[in-house]
Amino acid sequence: RAKLDGRSRFCIFTEAMDDGLRRRHEIERDLRLALAAGDQFDVHYQPILDRDGSLFAAEALLRWPGAPGGPVPPELFIAVAEESGMIEELGLWVLREACAFAQQMALPKISVNVSAVQLRSVRFTADVLAVLEDTGLPPERLELELTERCALDSGAATHRNLKDLRAAGVMIALDDFATGHSLLQYVRDFDIDVIKIDQSFVSRLGSVDGTDQVVRALVDLGHAMGLEIIAEGVETEAQREALIGIGCHIFQGYLLGRPLSREAFRGAGFPQAGERPA
Ligand code: C2E
Ligand code: MG
Ligand code: MG
Ligand code: MG
Repeated sequence: RAKLDGRSRFCIFTEAMDDGLRRRHEIERDLRLALAAGDQFDVHYQPILDRDGSLFAAEALLRWPGAPGGPVPPELFIAVAEESGMIEELGLWVLREACAFAQQMALPKISVNVSAVQLRSVRFTADVLAVLEDTGLPPERLELELTERCALDSGAATHRNLKDLRAAGVMIALDDFATGHSLLQYVRDFDIDVIKIDQSFVSRLGSVDGTDQVVRALVDLGHAMGLEIIAEGVETEAQREALIGIGCHIFQGYLLGRPLSREAFRGAGFPQAGERPA
């Protein structure tokens, strides 16, 4: 009996794996077609606000509205694009869209997520600088977000890119901070300007498990290292207040605003520093 149970469970498991694999293959095929067809992707913009509600930056978030098999979360199609060699083209397209939008809207800063795969390319810095040149966006107003989740390799190309981009004035942020294994290693190895405290910490603020103390320690440490600190996934006023108490004053999350289409973002008219009525 026990053996039979084990066998049937094993079958279900492999079927589920097959389904997952089949879905990834479909996504890969559809992504390829969408890239060839052009005009199939969108960028949404989520506001990042400071403590008085002024716009500090916006984060560009890729969307694939017409995906043939129904909506695909960005995490999934981006992972497929990374595995199948399409992320460079897709990532460059997002960068161009986002920089053009930021320049058009005179945004104080635009944050763009960058895959570790893009950073490994010897062409990456030149591509970024060409986009800045074409769109007229000053490098200081571009922030590239690297995620701590996927291993940044310590290869020469990654180091070179980050060094050259920083030397050109581009800002580097570490996304999903404190979720990876390496915690502070990246900050040390890669000359980071900004850390983004992951939502999994923000959502546990005020609980009894010591999260507040951990976040406070991260914020203090970050500030001591001269880093700017942004809290991600802020959903409630209580979380915002806890963060202010802890010393973190820049927020992103549904409480402040969801990711919005270009038009909706423009229509929302987020006040920029110095523009708010007294
Ligand atoms: P991320 O860079 O950490 O982006 C923040 C994610 O949290 C976004 O999910 C955003 O919609 C979501 N979010 C923001 N505020 C809240 C909140 O208050 N509550 C909750 N529950 N969620 C919130 P999204 O847009 O689904 O993107 C997921 C991830 O996909 C991003 O995480 C990023 O790692 C990746 N991604 C998105 N666009 C790009 C891109 O253009 N290039 C690359 N390489 N990765 C991207
Ligand atoms: Mg991000
Ligand atoms: Mg993040
Ligand atoms: Mg996150």
